[in-house]
Amino acid sequence: MAQNLPSASGFLAEIRQDDGRPIDPVFASRTARAAFRERTADQSLCGVLLHSGAPDAALAHTQGSTLVLAGELYNQEDLLRLLPGHTLPSSDAALVLALFGLYDVHAFRLLNGRFAALLAAPGRAVLATDHAGSLPLHVSAAPGRVLTATEAKALRTAPEGRSLAARPVRRLPGVHQVPAGTVLDIEVATGNCGTHRTWSPPQARRIVPEEEAAGTVRRALELAVRSRTSGDTPLVVLSGGIDSSSVAALAARRSATPIDTVSMGTEEADEFPQARVVARHLGSAHQEIVIPTAELLRRLPHTVWAAECLDPDVIEYLLPLTALYLRLPGTGRRILTGYGADIPLGGMHREDRLPELDTAVCRDMDTFDGLNEMSPVLSGIAGHWSTHPYWDRDVLDVLVSLEAGLKRRYGQDKWVLRAAMGDILPREVVVRPKLGVHEGSGTTSSFTRLLTDAGVPHDRVHQAKSLVVAELFDRVVVGGRHPDEVATDAVVELVATRLLSGVRPVPQ
Ligand code: AMP
Ligand code: MG
Repeated sequence: MAQNLPSASGFLAEIRQDDGRPIDPVFASRTARAAFRERTADQSLCGVLLHSGAPDAALAHTQGSTLVLAGELYNQEDLLRLLPGHTLPSSDAALVLALFGLYDVHAFRLLNGRFAALLAAPGRAVLATDHAGSLPLHVSAAPGRVLTATEAKALRTAPEGRSLAARPVRRLPGVHQVPAGTVLDIEVATGNCGTHRTWSPPQARRIVPEEEAAGTVRRALELAVRSRTSGDTPLVVLSGGIDSSSVAALAARRSATPIDTVSMGTEEADEFPQARVVARHLGSAHQEIVIPTAELLRRLPHTVWAAECLDPDVIEYLLPLTALYLRLPGTGRRILTGYGADIPLGGMHREDRLPELDTAVCRDMDTFDGLNEMSPVLSGIAGHWSTHPYWDRDVLDVLVSLEAGLKRRYGQDKWVLRAAMGDILPREVVVRPKLGVHEGSGTTSSFTRLLTDAGVPHDRVHQAKSLVVAELFDRVVVGGRHPDEVATDAVVELVATRLLSGVRPVPQ
């Protein structure tokens, strides 16, 4: 099977001191599943791995402890230097377990990766997310048992857990999401939980000469692309904007053979000409996929199912990509995106006002957690693995901490990125203004039209979108229904009727 994918992309795991029956989980990811079960002196560990052909490599063992790892690391070379003898463990899971032996929970401060992990040690369940929480992790804990899963819906039938100092998941009592960049250290017998933050966004800003700033960004991004492309031909989802074109250009420079690129559009809107310029420049094997708007809107339940997100704006960004992933030929592809560059660079901020730009960066870096924008389940529902170089820990640290005047400069947004990439992209790409995927694919306008056609007044469209997303969440995440059985039109109709009849909307 696909060796270029992480051994596991997700899991459900139960640690129990009783003999309760394991729960029967539901996942959105289409990846193969393998059950595992182990017993130690005082507790049992069992669960299901979502794997790419070698599930054993997602588990690592040492004296009574087991580490379960979904996802992958990007700084193995640095981590290796910390191990006695510098011998590379056989898997990322074994590497994390070896580091845990040396540093305990502080091992997770060392990792640059896209992962969710569980360490089951005697009497102890240690749960960890990467710096960005880019692989979501959920938990339900009660005295004597800890249940954890990379998809909240997998815990929908879990017995009710106690409340923890973490975000509760809507309508799943006792289920919480492990925050980004956090380790929860849970005592299994009591369910008592200690919290360690392993990353937080830089608050300070660095003053750097233009050239040095561009060079630092370029090097960080090169390393992030390198660590995400090992030998295989990567596939880049390409809009032709500066973010994805930069990733494609760096991936192409590393690849001995042409890389694959793909662009999506609908019959209403596309960015095909822009993406074609980049594909031609890079000599990539390029595909254009037209998704009819009706099909795009039918994928709304699938997007909420995969992202487990309640924010209608985020769902609009993720919908076109989800629809694209579901249309990609083949399975098991490693996909690189340009997603998320606008957050640390204030790219959505289109005026020359630095205070507002940094206010936006601070706000977005404070509020991304729990939106699940980076979730691999979005491509996992089509059997693929996606990864986002701009949210590499080192890239993010560099980008966030640059002073605002390097982000907005000479009347351009994301100036430092454009300067960093100027020598390997066509000039028209380097200066191309931002167009969001929700705009370039007509997603926002077609979702709006669906609601106004159902009678929702313009000034209530955003509220209606929130209600549609919440209703979808309740059906496909809380209710565990498959999104193929949930019709977007029917949910829109229901929400419109409720809004227009003055029935108080269900509280969010
Ligand atoms: P954006 O909202 O434009 O920043 O889009 C986020 C990321 O989604 C981009 O960096 C691309 O990787 C991908 N993307 C955006 N639009 C398209 C498109 N039309 N086709 C394929 N990928 C896209
Ligand atoms: Mg774009």
